Amino acid sequence: MEIIDSHTHWGPSVTMGIEVTTAELLRQAEQSGVGRIVIFPFPSQALADERINDQVLEEAGSDHTFIPYYYIPEDLRPIPKEKGFYGGKWHWTRGVQDCSSNYTVLEDPALGAFIEESEGIDLPIIFEEELAFTETFVEMTKTLKIIIPHLGLLGGSPLDFLEAFRRRENCYFDTALADRDTIRRFVKEIGPERILFASDIPFGQMKSELHKVLSLPIGDAEKELILSKNVKRLIGLD
Ligand SMILES: [Zn+2]
Repeated sequence: MEIIDSHTHWGPSVTMGIEVTTAELLRQAEQSGVGRIVIFPFPSQALADERINDQVLEEAGSDHTFIPYYYIPEDLRPIPKEKGFYGGKWHWTRGVQDCSSNYTVLEDPALGAFIEESEGIDLPIIFEEELAFTETFVEMTKTLKIIIPHLGLLGGSPLDFLEAFRRRENCYFDTALADRDTIRRFVKEIGPERILFASDIPFGQMKSELHKVLSLPIGDAEKELILSKNVKRLIGLD
């Protein structure tokens, strides 16, 4: 069964003082039986120097294991699809990194144009903000595909996210760092079509994150959706 890790960080992190190398990602993929890996920069690195986006692209160009996503800059430029990106990462835009949403972004006149252009580009965006921010954003679009990482764990309670978006067919969730019982509950309540396997390396380990999905009491067809088919459908891969 093909397995794609749909959320990892590649390259250096200025704030954490670490670097996730290609060799490390490939080592974990080999160990876990993962065939392809979505990569994007660490937030602090992208904010310090956005050329890291081009480095992610170059790395994916030389190793086809990698699927590059674009870190969306704070001035809200949409994904430059023509360059070869397959998706985007929206991360607490202008907020306190990994901590709290900045609600003035929702009043930025540039946001409407960003959403409209992104709907046209039709690539998914891993979207991380607090629940109330995410709800307002999702109200603004019917078609833009957003992937809520960690089942919403860092933006509030996963079950609140589940309630808020269960009928929003354009909202997806990734499993990284979530616990197995919560993943199981999401699959049971909204089906496997909107759930994506992810590790969030270096914050999670590929093998143990994968084990949570492999050990779910569901059939192989359902697992295959979560492990690769959903992300492939979203990014238009084969
Ligand atoms: Zn992450």
